[in-house]
Amino acid sequence: MRIVVTGGAGFIGSHFIEKIVNEGIEAVVVDNLITGSVDNIKEYIDKGTVKFIQQDVQEFIDIEGEVDVVMHLASIASPKAYVKYPVNTLKSGSLGTINSLGLAKVKKAKYVLASTSEIYGDPKISPQKEDYWGNVNPVGPRSMYDESKRFAEAAATTYVTEFGLDVKIARIFNTYGTRMKVNDGRVVTNFLYQALNNEDITIYGDGSQTRSLSYVTDTVEYLFRLMKSEYRGVVNIGNPEEISIIDLAKKIIKKTNSNSKIVHLDLPEDDPKKRKPDISLAVEELGYSPLVTLDEGLSVLIQWLEEKKIN
Ligand code: NAD
Ligand code: UDP
Repeated sequence: MRIVVTGGAGFIGSHFIEKIVNEGIEAVVVDNLITGSVDNIKEYIDKGTVKFIQQDVQEFIDIEGEVDVVMHLASIASPKAYVKYPVNTLKSGSLGTINSLGLAKVKKAKYVLASTSEIYGDPKISPQKEDYWGNVNPVGPRSMYDESKRFAEAAATTYVTEFGLDVKIARIFNTYGTRMKVNDGRVVTNFLYQALNNEDITIYGDGSQTRSLSYVTDTVEYLFRLMKSEYRGVVNIGNPEEISIIDLAKKIIKKTNSNSKIVHLDLPEDDPKKRKPDISLAVEELGYSPLVTLDEGLSVLIQWLEEKKIN
């Protein structure tokens, strides 16, 4: 089996590469390294099990030889980064998705799209089920990401209708774990960095907004099972263990024995108030429930950060 993984040098991508290499699968990574790093997959490139192509998915993707699966993960994923690179974010989800769909079509390969819980925007119902259409602001500060992912889902669906492509759409909910960039602005790494350095913990708004955090090995197990499955269509991927941001901050302060104080900053516009996946479809179709609790996942990440002396 040979898989093209766009965005394979990033956080989730590199864990996915680790998983498939361990399963004896060959991979080609296409990544422009805007937020990723070759170091994340260097071991496999050096061993020859992974071929690395530094390229922007906005450009035509030309891969030699047979391809069984195209896994399209290339996209900036952190709100801080997509506000910094809005056009790149928009084009990765739109042009990048079209180019990767074109590759799957010409290679007669399965296609897996990394979509997102942002499809649901600031949801009016909770938990979110796949049949909920969402509540997204098309001209808001997050729209370059949300709307390009919504376009990506529409594009993938159109390739099913017109070309009969085997498409699986993974709506991934907030995922955290080792190899995340400490400064990429997402909540878990921000809070851990601040706590480990006894700096103020920056809560945006009053902290009553919730997220449901999935440890990366669970997210990757779902992606792997989805890729192998006969299931076609949309599926939520995540861990329904929901926590408010203020409780997350308190938990992290406690787990790191930190002297940090909590400070409140302005809540960014359109920041979703609730996010919790209904994963009943994933459990039924993919036969898997998340294994890693928030406490366990945070402990692993804290140890990794301490070993890397990132704090
Ligand atoms: P990440 O930033 O660590 O990884 C993204 C990778 O894609 C990086 O290696 C980056 O260099 C590459 N990339 C970005 N734009 C590119 C482009 N135009 N051309 C080529 N490569 C490009 O982010 P991540 O958290 O690993 O996210 C991976 C995927 O999962 C993204 O599609 C993201 O939208 C999706 N997702 C992630 C989460 C999460 O919580 N981590 C949640 C929902 C969806
Ligand atoms: N957040 C916060 N402080 C931070 C970073 C994030 O309070 O230093 C909040 C953010 O406003 C959001 C939640 O944490 O409500 C999750 O933010 P993240 O950027 O990780 O991902 P999102 O789910 O918003 O895409």
